[in-house]
Amino acid sequence: LPANCTLVAVSKTKPPEIITEAYNCNQLDFGENYVQELIAKHQQLPKDIRWHFIGHLQTNKVKQIISIVHLIHGVDTKKLLLEINKEAAKADIIVKVLLQVYIAQEETKYGLSKEELFEITEEYKNKKYANILIAGLMGMASNTNDKITVKKEFSVIKSHFDILSKQLPNFSILSIGMSSDYELALEVGSTMVRIGSAIFGERVYANK
Ligand SMILES: *Cc1c(COP(=O)(O)O)cnc(C)c1O
Repeated sequence: LPANCTLVAVSKTKPPEIITEAYNCNQLDFGENYVQELIAKHQQLPKDIRWHFIGHLQTNKVKQIISIVHLIHGVDTKKLLLEINKEAAKADIIVKVLLQVYIAQEETKYGLSKEELFEITEEYKNKKYANILIAGLMGMASNTNDKITVKKEFSVIKSHFDILSKQLPNFSILSIGMSSDYELALEVGSTMVRIGSAIFGERVYANK
């Protein structure tokens, strides 16, 4: 990876021993998708690990993770942002988040539309979210082998990112790229990749 790109090792479903192995190779950034799993791993593992919440976060679970999480990647509704702001204010902390932008063709992917994105960033400029630091954007491309489609989708989020990075302070993270498409994401300008299976092997989901 280029020096300006951070690797988030996606450890969801993987046991603490495997995370420790990566940690012993100086990997400090880990990504998790499930609140209970993140809390359990945070309790068991070294305290200098930076936990990234990369899953779909329900508003009623915000409170449980805001003080242990380094960065919340998937903020995809104004309702969720308001809830994070409210709980952060109560805890008297500033929570760092990325806004998730909808870029894929598929209906299954979460994210803000372009209109919602710029509406929220306008409000943010007007200090509506005093206990939040919006540090950048996150996106997921379509799950396809068609490189042209994936690159086109990444380019859309990159153009939003370029506009906003000129307007907002401390706005520097573009979280795009997973095991199957991180090379394309780097070509477009990713500053943070989220890679699971290419590091830890395929995931096995219990009861699924
Ligand atoms: C699971 C997950 C990843 C990692 O996926 P891999 O294909 O295993 O690299 C990245 N981002 C998000 C949002 C995920 O849920």
